[in-house]
Amino acid sequence: MEFRIGSIAGDGIGPEIVTEARKVLSGIEEKFGHTFHYQDILMGGCSIDKYGDSLTDEAIEQAKSSDAVLMGSIGGNTSTSPWYKVAPEKRPEAGLLRIRKALNLFANLRPSYLFPELASSCPLRREVAEKGFDILILRELTGGLYFGDRYTKEIDGVMTAVDTLKYDENEIRRVAKRAFEVAMQRRKKVSSVDKANVLDSSRLWRKVVNEVSQSYPEVELEHVLVDSCAMQLVRNPGNFDVVLTENMFGDILSDEAAEISGSLGMLASASLNDTSFGLYEPAGGSAPDIAGKGIANPIATILSAGMMLRYSFGLSKEADAIENAVRKVLSDGYRTGDIMSEGCKKVGTSEMGDLIRERL
Ligand code: NAD
Repeated sequence: MEFRIGSIAGDGIGPEIVTEARKVLSGIEEKFGHTFHYQDILMGGCSIDKYGDSLTDEAIEQAKSSDAVLMGSIGGNTSTSPWYKVAPEKRPEAGLLRIRKALNLFANLRPSYLFPELASSCPLRREVAEKGFDILILRELTGGLYFGDRYTKEIDGVMTAVDTLKYDENEIRRVAKRAFEVAMQRRKKVSSVDKANVLDSSRLWRKVVNEVSQSYPEVELEHVLVDSCAMQLVRNPGNFDVVLTENMFGDILSDEAAEISGSLGMLASASLNDTSFGLYEPAGGSAPDIAGKGIANPIATILSAGMMLRYSFGLSKEADAIENAVRKVLSDGYRTGDIMSEGCKKVGTSEMGDLIRERL
């Protein structure tokens, strides 16, 4: 089969990790007889350097004309990079928000899985880590606080900043449906996270999620307050299957879930709309502290490419091949610096890509 992939390398470690994901995808082309046509798309700081804006209309059109987009990461050091001296709406992260909105990517899926080989990198207590966990955080991505009206102005002589958290029932319903559908393919449990004891938007969230759950009687639903969820994630992560939540809570909880799995460099993500199109990227950022050193872990990006095969191209066998190759490399004892432990062999970004490709 043939597919068009928009490829956003981005900034920092982005180009290094995307190169490795494309290397592994070329192994998939060879082994399974598919053809992937790439279209390079500029986004982030590199686009500011060229066009003065992190995302151009042309880049959005290029993304829209692809079957899926594979992305590295964008942004630089937020205190020192000149990319943060341009107008806020042109900065790297604004581009990310804009592409999500333009492509209507309202559902962000982030698996957080503890590979048994990496249990020693897990910061949780040993007895908790040993039980393992396999969580899928489903975060609403195009609504809420990050997209509401905001302003900063002087009111009665006092500088005041306002951000607005708004959700309508349709936005909640479509993402809740996705959560129940995904749960049906997994362990059939949805934990919906909100702050319904304080926020109106959360009370509506809870009401709509309850309504949607009526259509999925096989799926167990629980409601969890966000503060309690943050605590349970470190105490008893094995309790969670699908965690459904709004944009900002999901931003924070998914990083926490990433951290307990051992390394940000291991976690893939998919952002989907209501078609088969998706944008696939690692959970981590552009890691300016290690960019250009050839030591970044490419596994999250490689697993993101695997999610792209599964969710956008319907190629489950090929996605399984990538996941199994990653497991094999770990059980053969190869590690990048961020997941290194005693007795393992330390490898760089490119070698890790080669090792995974060899094991497809
Ligand atoms: P970060 O995720 O880039 O880095 C946090 C820590 O994790 C760093 O120590 C980094 O070296 C390490 N790390 C991250 N990915 C790694 C990998 N693949 N292999 C090994 N180590 C890895 O977060 P940050 O430092 O807060 O942000 C840096 C920049 O990235 C900022 O400009 C931020 O806005 C941007 N960012 C972009 C995205 C995205 O593109 N989707 C997401 C988050 C942050």
